[in-house]
Amino acid sequence: MADILLLEPGYHNKYPPLGLMKISYFHKYVHGDYVRFAKGKLPEAFKDKKWDRVYVTTLFTFEWENTKKALEYALSVVKEDGQVYTGGILATLMPELIAEHFPTVINNTGLLNKKGTLGLAGEECIDTMTPDYGILDDIKDEYVYPAHDAYFTYMTRGCGMKCQFCAVQTLEPTYIPYFSITESIKKIDDKFGPKKDLLLMDNNVLRSPQFDQIVDEIKALGFAKGATYTNPATGKQVQRYVDFNQGLDAYLLTPAKAKRLGELAIRPARIAFDHIEDEEAYVKAIKLCARNGITHMSNYLLYNGVEFTGKGRKYHADTPEDLYNRMKITMDLCDELNDELDYKISIFSFPMRYIPLSDLKRGYVGTNWHAKYLRALQRMLIPTQGKGVSSRSFFEADFGKTAEEFVEALAMPESHLGWRGHFVEKKDEDKKITELRRQVWNENHSYLNEWKRLFRSLSDRDAFIEHINDNAFTVERFETIEDPIHRKLFIHYFTPPMLLRAFASENQRTVADVAAYITEEFPLMYKRMIEYIATVRTQYSILEGPIKAFGAKLLMDILAYIDVLSEDTGYVISNLQKAQAKMQKQIFDFNLVQYAKLYCQAGIFKKSEQKELVSLIVNLEEKKIKEILIENLPQFEKKLKKVAKEEVGSDYIINGIKDSLIRLNEQLSLFGDDE
Ligand code: SF4
Repeated sequence: MADILLLEPGYHNKYPPLGLMKISYFHKYVHGDYVRFAKGKLPEAFKDKKWDRVYVTTLFTFEWENTKKALEYALSVVKEDGQVYTGGILATLMPELIAEHFPTVINNTGLLNKKGTLGLAGEECIDTMTPDYGILDDIKDEYVYPAHDAYFTYMTRGCGMKCQFCAVQTLEPTYIPYFSITESIKKIDDKFGPKKDLLLMDNNVLRSPQFDQIVDEIKALGFAKGATYTNPATGKQVQRYVDFNQGLDAYLLTPAKAKRLGELAIRPARIAFDHIEDEEAYVKAIKLCARNGITHMSNYLLYNGVEFTGKGRKYHADTPEDLYNRMKITMDLCDELNDELDYKISIFSFPMRYIPLSDLKRGYVGTNWHAKYLRALQRMLIPTQGKGVSSRSFFEADFGKTAEEFVEALAMPESHLGWRGHFVEKKDEDKKITELRRQVWNENHSYLNEWKRLFRSLSDRDAFIEHINDNAFTVERFETIEDPIHRKLFIHYFTPPMLLRAFASENQRTVADVAAYITEEFPLMYKRMIEYIATVRTQYSILEGPIKAFGAKLLMDILAYIDVLSEDTGYVISNLQKAQAKMQKQIFDFNLVQYAKLYCQAGIFKKSEQKELVSLIVNLEEKKIKEILIENLPQFEKKLKKVAKEEVGSDYIINGIKDSLIRLNEQLSLFGDDE
């Protein structure tokens, strides 16, 4: 009996590794081996175990870093006379990369659909083996695939449409029009228990001349329209669904095929709308599905592409407007069909970012896109949580009411993007909190309006986009900009620390322009900067620039914002003190605030006196503060000694207090000489 380790790299993916599940079945049930599955690496308990064979599956090329880690790990845990194998999408698309980095690993490219791919006795065809669902239990405490309660299978292989950007022609070069899955599903039921849904990973099922046979078989397996499933654990009856998860080709959907699809418990029917040029075929296909009783549909919207050829056509490199229009077409189509039909349908849009087949990272930028737009779109998609866009109100609020609004939003600073939308009243919320939220919302909208005012005043937007397209909003970048409006707009893209850093620039024009804009033209930004310094623990060195630029005004504004005598704001006082010390320029001695705090804690002042003291601090009235502190020093000394005696009576503490009083007295006497 051999020890077999199956590894899936530590990336996040939706579907379990079907290839490894089949290899597992072969080793476990045909060879009687011990098989273990791991995601990324094995738990600590296995740290000393070595394996006869380690199989590493691969997925997208942009997951190369995770894949590399898994292969390195495999080599570290395989026995000296053992062997590491790999296969799957990346390994098939880039065999030379595997060979270069892992020359001792055997790469089984393509499908394991012929005899002897693993070089072991009894191996007829791994691809037609029953998947071993048991391996999923090995990782159930660390990773659960979003789609796991389903039969994962294929009824056809390949596609044949040869779209330039698609890997299927390399992965599955030959179109195979039909596989029966009945036997395999029966085996899964017997060995691992029945599954709720049927997930068919066919790349182009509609191309199959045996499509009718496929539909008949799916129905016979218990997935006809309206099919239900009784959960064996809970006894609860639920709807079960068929999902052709790679999508249905709109160009091949005929009325007859749509009618047949309508006989299935299909949800959703996925129709690709990869290019705006496909509009006519897409709209026709969605209408056919909806009119044949399919109520849930979705699309894939490829964006960030280049010029492509495929399906016998030529497609232009998509633009952001194309993406917006495809979503809008879908929205309008959904409304139109809901008006026409006597049942409700929904269509979910899934924008999918194009990454070339050979890219080892995710950062690819298509012909008509750039890093800033891609980042903004990613941000807009966050609220959908990967579930697609289907509600018009969300779509219009998030993506805009027109393509022009969408493109404008893509250019917005990321912070501003999150500030769009209406103020939301919350039931049962405390009125004061509502008021505070409203105030923040109003301020955020002032920011948005100011940005729009400047952006819409641009005579050449593209020229400004040139400054922001790489998503690098640094002071250095700002200093390369000449146009005064572009400079003002660019300030909106600074993060709060970057704004503070701008004042440390040696370029006087930078300091003057930023200071003028945030105090004279858009003072809300200055207010927010003060709030940031007063509430966020920053490094003191970052405050030097602003103190130099705004002097006493900045200190007064910060002190006015915080509760100067509170312990909680001690770090702000200390930061200002340190920043001044580093600059070797003292505008105000913050030791006075520390002493004032001690006096107040000792209860020397009445409330009104304390208020007066705070006001003197905020106005940086050093002389008056010193006078008050000296005047009250004897009382303060007496109080401290009394408190210490009552509480402990230890000479040690009394002496400590005396020492500090002597030091304080000396300091205050020194202050007393000042004018
Ligand atoms: S039709 Fe779909 S699966 Fe077939 S080659 Fe084109 S993109 Fe790939």
